[in-house]
Amino acid sequence: MRLEEIAERIRRCRRCDLWKTKTNYVPGEGNPNAKIVFVGEAPGREEDKQGRPFVGNAGRYLTEVLERLGLDRREVFITNVLKCRPPNNRDPRPEEIEACKPFLVEQLEAIRPDLVVCLGRFAGNVVFDLFGLDFPGISRVKGKVFDVERWGKVVRVGAVYHPAAVLYRPQLKEEFEKDLRNVLNSIKVRRTLFDFF
Ligand code: URA
Repeated sequence: MRLEEIAERIRRCRRCDLWKTKTNYVPGEGNPNAKIVFVGEAPGREEDKQGRPFVGNAGRYLTEVLERLGLDRREVFITNVLKCRPPNNRDPRPEEIEACKPFLVEQLEAIRPDLVVCLGRFAGNVVFDLFGLDFPGISRVKGKVFDVERWGKVVRVGAVYHPAAVLYRPQLKEEFEKDLRNVLNSIKVRRTLFDFF
């Protein structure tokens, strides 16, 4: 299925109750031929307002770090486990994750990326499970990548802290940026300055 068709179906979704309280659905955005897919938790206030993923404070920070690492966010695909904002940014509920997960599976299937980067523990839990990987916790796996066989090739799955958690605890910035660099350098999209360090 094409990404735009998936987005259309997301915009008609009533599989859980979050459609009632959301302003906009946030299906995800980016390059349909992306080598890298980023998966966050759920839209926040700004994402809900604009219908776009990672456009609030955490998103601005993520975009800035990606740029510093030589990656324009338009080159990749960015989405979330949940496509609707939970009221007051509460944690996603298990039934919401189950209801929404098929859309993420379809998006990954449409793009067939070489690398999936989980942003935070919620995405890590869901995405690692989708790929048949154990998820022992974000602090155990952050900065690492795991190889799985999918779509007739080796696909790498990695995780980093959630950028919102990093903004909340700025002492994690250095570690987050190093972890993200490690994960991104596991595939050669193109050579960046950081490959030389
Ligand atoms: N946090 C997320 O997990 N996703 C977004 O899109 C924005 C903030």
